Amino acid sequence: MTTGREEQAGIHLEDMLIIPGAYITDEIVRTVLERQCNRCAGCNAPLTAGSTHFDLRQPVICGGSHTSRNFEALCPFCHQNRMRRIRVRFADHRNK
Ligand SMILES: [Zn+2]
Repeated sequence: MTTGREEQAGIHLEDMLIIPGAYITDEIVRTVLERQCNRCAGCNAPLTAGSTHFDLRQPVICGGSHTSRNFEALCPFCHQNRMRRIRVRFADHRNK
């Protein structure tokens, strides 16, 4: 690979943010959805099975864990926003 370090870091961060199916169990999914009454944690929109994104409140790189308490369910729109915000935050860190 001839990609620069920046790009590699970006790919790595992306991997951390998109939680692979292996990490989230049916039980966590049920617990989180029940806690949020099947609504998006960001905008309160009703969540449907095909459009629910699970995200960690505290990213693993910041010490977050893969427990239901640290997960929240988001609609695709809020999930996009969340990822953008986290990416900006990390870009800030790098510049300091
Ligand atoms: Zn939302």
